[in-house]
Amino acid sequence: MLAELSFPIPLRRTFYYLLPDELELRAAPGLRAVAPLGKRAAAVGMILRVLPEKDADLTKFKELKSVTRLLDEEPLFPEDAPALAAWMAARWGSPRGLCLGAFYSHAPQEDPVLPPPPQPGLAAPLPQLPELKKFLEALAVEPEGAYLLRLAPLERREAVYPAVFAAALAGEAAQGLLLVPDLNYIPALQAALEPVFPGRVGSWHARLTPKRRAEAWAGARSGLFKVVIATRTGVFLPFKDLSLALLDGEHEDVYRQEEAEPFYQTREVLLRRARALGARAVLASPCPTIESWGAAAGGGLQRFDAVPAARLAGPGPDVRVLDMTEYPGDILARPLADAVRRAVAGGGQALVIAGRKGYASRLFCAHCGWMPRCKECGPGLTLLKTAAAAPVLLCRRCGKREPKPEVCPSCGGRVFRDYGAGTQKTQEALSKLLPGTKIARFDGDVLRGSLKAMKAELESFSKGEADVLVGTRIALRELGAPRLKLAAFIDADADLSSADFRAAEKAYRSFYGAWRLLGAAGELFIQTREAGHYVFSRLTEMDYPSFADGELAARRDFFYPPFSHIVKARFASFDPRGVESAGGDLLKALSFLGADGEILGPVTPPGQEKKRFFSEYYLVKAASEKTAARCLAAAQALVQRPGVKYFVEADPHGFQ
Ligand SMILES: [Zn+2]
Ligand SMILES: [Zn+2]
Repeated sequence: MLAELSFPIPLRRTFYYLLPDELELRAAPGLRAVAPLGKRAAAVGMILRVLPEKDADLTKFKELKSVTRLLDEEPLFPEDAPALAAWMAARWGSPRGLCLGAFYSHAPQEDPVLPPPPQPGLAAPLPQLPELKKFLEALAVEPEGAYLLRLAPLERREAVYPAVFAAALAGEAAQGLLLVPDLNYIPALQAALEPVFPGRVGSWHARLTPKRRAEAWAGARSGLFKVVIATRTGVFLPFKDLSLALLDGEHEDVYRQEEAEPFYQTREVLLRRARALGARAVLASPCPTIESWGAAAGGGLQRFDAVPAARLAGPGPDVRVLDMTEYPGDILARPLADAVRRAVAGGGQALVIAGRKGYASRLFCAHCGWMPRCKECGPGLTLLKTAAAAPVLLCRRCGKREPKPEVCPSCGGRVFRDYGAGTQKTQEALSKLLPGTKIARFDGDVLRGSLKAMKAELESFSKGEADVLVGTRIALRELGAPRLKLAAFIDADADLSSADFRAAEKAYRSFYGAWRLLGAAGELFIQTREAGHYVFSRLTEMDYPSFADGELAARRDFFYPPFSHIVKARFASFDPRGVESAGGDLLKALSFLGADGEILGPVTPPGQEKKRFFSEYYLVKAASEKTAARCLAAAQALVQRPGVKYFVEADPHGFQ
């Protein structure tokens, strides 16, 4: 008999091995096997199939080697891990062996000795959370299902999750998985869950020692742990009886693994694994992704709002949206300038978020503020000045170009302005406003050499030495501000015209981030030239559902996720003809697409026009996941032209 083995290596193939007599009866799919592989004498792989020699296609094999030994008595995963890995490989394009490896690569070769489970102690009584009541009742009675749990904007996760797991894990054997976006959240959550499940809360993250790692793995698999709190890779842990898997902060970007293969989106893997295991899945966030919001609207997720109505109007910063068409020519509108002065004079700090330089300036009618928009996909258009031809308007998102209008169709005016306030201009304006005040600046996307200097600027603000910080949105993520009293977005709609179709969602999330940072008291100012946009319409109440409904409708109108699945193919070369030919190859390879999708492009990433290196990308919008997988495979299979670099990815988040 033969065994077909998968190894966690970047090759798109499997391997056949002879099974020695003594292993033949024990061998089964899902067991780990040790075998020689290439130059390695002992590599660990997983058995996919056991089959008679006549059923195997052995044309590629000169000689068959033998499996050395088996590491397991029974499959590591109760569900069909190879099938999940195959789905991951088709969905995000990584080799199947690496996808399957994500499940078992961390497994210890020998099970560590674990302590016996502690005697069931008296669980501590939980605080009453009236807004969670309905959700907890659903968890207590429904054995399966997938949920979207919207949390209150200032809710602490330690206050909510113990009650959720207590309600869901009433059965003695039932286990839970709690995934968090940051390992720094683990200690507080562990402390909060420990009284509910004394001695039976485990943790899993990248900084564990090998011994601890082995214990955590075995603790999850044996059922010793009632709850495992883990970072991203915990989604692949084995469980004896998983009953509830909860993804905390489901909107966080870190859940998307895009730095190293295998690529995956934790949220989607979690939903699929939970279904395969017959467990409940909960996606939790104060501002869920539009993908999840759409799934809830379509019935794929059951939504619960753990948001008490009273709290919407309760503590939280004051939010003011300033319509900048009323303050033509100003970088800071009068009310904002006054508020900054007041805040600093009162001993507070102010954070001012500006746009990235040259990133997304838009064209406006100087007289009435009318803005030309892309008829295909919606965003405001950028003025593109080329040396050769007359200026044209460019859509950053779909690449469409059109001539610059002579007159404004709204008012007949003939003067247009290019608008976009970067950090430098903003810093200058603030220096004039507040003479003698220390104003720090943090750009985030600076040249390598000055990154250290930028960090120092950020630190001086975080330590309270500088009263004002001007920065891009990236500053929000890295910031601590002891005396923060005011936050302002100078050019809040700038990024709405960017190449990223998630621009509005990301913009909303940074407003929310600033709102949280300000805490219960403070002022949040938003300057915009598109005050009528749904992003701003209910911002003063931080009413996420009304934003999310508006965004979902826009995604539907322009056929973006969750209504389509996107594959991005980018080509780069010193030779523009090479880029063009590669694009032609792609279009030919995707000719099967027809009514099942559409192709945008070629799009030139911002700032590329002036470079010597040419780069263009295409976005394929496929109607179904299956079609997207087919497009991804077709793009990956393109015969690469010399001198051209190919970058193909599914569900892209970057549009550079
Ligand atoms: Zn006009
Ligand atoms: Zn467009």
